Amino acid sequence: MYYQSTRSKIKASDVEAVLKGIADDGGLFVMSEESCRGFDWKGCLKLSSLGMAERILSALLPGFENMEELVNDAYSGKFETDDLTPLVPVGDKYVLELFRGPTSAFKDVALSMLPQLITAAHRQTGSPDETVILTATSGDTGKAALEGFHDVDGTRILVFYPENGVSPIQKAQMVTQSGSNVCVCAINGNFDDCQRGIKEAFAAINSGKLLKGRGMCLSSANSINIGRLAPQVVYYFIAYAKLVDSGRIKVGDIVDYTVPTGNFGDILAGYYAKLLGLPVGKLVCASNANRVLTDFINTGIYDRRREFMRTSSPSMDILVSSNLERMLYLSSDGSTDLVSDCMEKLSRDGVYTVDAKTLARIRSVFYAASADEEDTSWTIGKVWHDFGYLCDPHTAVAFCAAEQYERECGSASPMVILSTASPYKFPTPVLQAVGGNTDGDEFRQIESLNRLSGVPIPKNLSALENRAPLHTDVIERDNILQYILKQLGIREA
Ligand SMILES: *Cc1c(COP(=O)(O)O)cnc(C)c1O
Repeated sequence: MYYQSTRSKIKASDVEAVLKGIADDGGLFVMSEESCRGFDWKGCLKLSSLGMAERILSALLPGFENMEELVNDAYSGKFETDDLTPLVPVGDKYVLELFRGPTSAFKDVALSMLPQLITAAHRQTGSPDETVILTATSGDTGKAALEGFHDVDGTRILVFYPENGVSPIQKAQMVTQSGSNVCVCAINGNFDDCQRGIKEAFAAINSGKLLKGRGMCLSSANSINIGRLAPQVVYYFIAYAKLVDSGRIKVGDIVDYTVPTGNFGDILAGYYAKLLGLPVGKLVCASNANRVLTDFINTGIYDRRREFMRTSSPSMDILVSSNLERMLYLSSDGSTDLVSDCMEKLSRDGVYTVDAKTLARIRSVFYAASADEEDTSWTIGKVWHDFGYLCDPHTAVAFCAAEQYERECGSASPMVILSTASPYKFPTPVLQAVGGNTDGDEFRQIESLNRLSGVPIPKNLSALENRAPLHTDVIERDNILQYILKQLGIREA
């Protein structure tokens, strides 16, 4: 089974695709729709969460040996519950809690697995090189990747975050990270600046062959890496199996999912679950005030030329959504010409339009809605007061979008809302929304929120306060490449 670039005929095996992260033409690796056919999705539903992970990852990444062992090493004992992602009924909907891992964000599900895949890929290819992981983060990927990769032999990880674009808790999580192979640096700019800077550095290093003969190769922990995307398919199955087990649905019934979306990775994993056979109905794409995806799905015009808003759901403050490129490929019968053309226009003009047929295909699966800051805050308060469930701002954006969908299209099927972060990662907006006291710094606010709600504080967050910062570098976007080379001990030619 081969993976194919979205922009040209370049192909790679699954093992190579995980090691490289991004194709040499700048495109993203995609699996073919055919490779998803014939998957025994019904059989899969009967397994434990880890059993499902093994089965699904073996189907999507068949070139990896000993998947069972890799899955066990990734997850056993690392999450709060053995089922990895609990499903909680809230009102007439279901919240899929993806934040029960080591850093209290959904990125843990994929980033616990990715280091296993990368080290296995090294073993299997006999590559002597050290893998250098470059990561741009809007807050949660950075910490989850650091947690996954710190002190992993044969890897080194460099994380870049927007200096003023992450919450104080997210920042504290990253800058206190220990480990002999980690580097964390702030960029003066927003997440799009970080992401673009990293992509450009990637391209410059690869095209200039700057690591050649130095025993290093580059990879990415962002959701452009298929090793990041594939593990996210699993929890769509876990949620479905739980609805079957509880008697809410029969095997074969349709289930809708609402996904708080930034880079389109999480929701694309839902589309892959559907390709594998799972009866996924609508995938509701929920955006915050940076509603570039809402506008795209509703009009066919992707236009990033707009004001970048900083919101209370910073992990979705994104105007250039990387994984949409994969969806364009899948919705255009694999037209690398269409994808290259759109991506070129996006980078040159900041805007592109897709044809009516491609848009219709996208809209047959995805529904899009957005929540502004006021909607988000109101929703956190309402969900708390009506149902006694405390949700974080990202999850609230999804809740609000799910309600818009049901108002417009009805609610024939169960709705699963993907909850992507613990409310304790964003105590200020959550306290404001539920009418709590926001005095003091974020750690005091965590305590206030705990007193008010009685919801336990994740241990990894309460332990942060007494840790000293280890990483203090702040640089300009234009200096990312230089900085990376310096960290790797390379002088630019
Ligand atoms: C990353 C993140 C998202 C967005 O996920 P994408 O895969 O980028 O769409 C949503 N919520 C939280 C809390 C996140 O960390």
